[in-house]
Amino acid sequence: MKIKRVGFVGWRGMVGSVLLTRMRDEADFDVIEEPVFFSTSQTGQAGPEIGSQQTRLHDAFDLQQLSAMDVIVTCQGGDYTTQVFKVLREEGWRGYWIDAASSLRMTDHSVIVLDPVNRELIDQALDNGVRDFIGGNCTVSLMMMAMAGLLKADLVEWISVMTYQAASGAGARAMRELLTQMAALCVATAPLLEDPAAVILDIDRLAIEAMRGASFPVANLGAALAGNLLPWIDRIADNGQSREEWKGYVECNKILGRQQNPIAIDGLCVRIGAMRCHSQALTVKLCVDLGMDEIRGRLAEANDWVRVVENTPQHSITELTPSHVTGTLEVAIGRLHKMRMGPEYLTAFTVGDQLLWGAAEPLRRMLKLLLQR
Ligand code: NAP
Repeated sequence: MKIKRVGFVGWRGMVGSVLLTRMRDEADFDVIEEPVFFSTSQTGQAGPEIGSQQTRLHDAFDLQQLSAMDVIVTCQGGDYTTQVFKVLREEGWRGYWIDAASSLRMTDHSVIVLDPVNRELIDQALDNGVRDFIGGNCTVSLMMMAMAGLLKADLVEWISVMTYQAASGAGARAMRELLTQMAALCVATAPLLEDPAAVILDIDRLAIEAMRGASFPVANLGAALAGNLLPWIDRIADNGQSREEWKGYVECNKILGRQQNPIAIDGLCVRIGAMRCHSQALTVKLCVDLGMDEIRGRLAEANDWVRVVENTPQHSITELTPSHVTGTLEVAIGRLHKMRMGPEYLTAFTVGDQLLWGAAEPLRRMLKLLLQR
């Protein structure tokens, strides 16, 4: 099928705008005959400028308009997907659906896309007529990009993942609120901070009082994140897990096509006060005792974006940090060394931009793949 019309929904949200920026950077629009932009709230208004062309926004709930698309790329969110996808398919629409939301990830008719890891699975699915391609959970995709060299070679028995997830994972409002909280802490402690003779425990007391105070801004995050951390992300699942932790296991195995022979993956997901890079500390039980040179080599060669960081204090605090990796496509992995538990036990720390490889990039590449077929 020759793809002509590509519809974009959710393009002005956080993931959608990163997607558009990447598509402009890579000149992807040059190969799309007719990009069409939709909105749930701004029908008729001006859409984004593509090249020299000014686009107009269509109604994202107009099924007739949507069904004229060969591909729909949506970064609008799960509620939108639930409302529109099923009806569109029931009415006979046979185009490709590319989605950032989680709603369809675990359905039988979808593939979770992360092409540097599961390109074969994607190609097979396309050959078999699959039309629903869904981006993975950000933390899962970033861990898999970093660990692809060992995961794809079937060298991993299990992984314990402890995450340090950025505010961006909770949306744009959460990012703003984190900064507002930081500002509130500065205001609360300013009088003593300015006094070099002030006692640090008095400064700390002011900060804690502000954090616990009724006027501290927590409307979006639910609690203080600045100067604090939140050891729960997403809804409650079974067995004491959060849904975010559950996704780590099910999505990773679906991406690898190993639902029948899953790798055990578990851990705790924690929100920290980073802006848009997720970090993860991994404990890995390898299937065999591999040498460190081989491990580093396999990780580094797995794809063009993973970067192995030397396990030194200087490299770790300069190159293996959210502030260093943010805004780049690089997925850094470092702190690599064997653990006291035995020669098959490896530890690692990885950092990746949650909005790039964690969200927009797998979708952009899936669209590109369809356009090139
Ligand atoms: P978002 O920023 O909240 O944007 C979603 C929609 O909100 C926009 O497309 C826009 O739709 C509407 N909107 C209302 N006011 C807006 C404003 N002032 N600026 C921009 N948009 C506004 O959502 P998101 O964080 O990108 O997430 C989209 C989907 O991706 C979700 O399903 C999420 O779970 C998934 N995802 C998110 C991340 C992440 O890091 N946040 C990572 C992976 C996957 P209209 O134009 O129709 O009004």
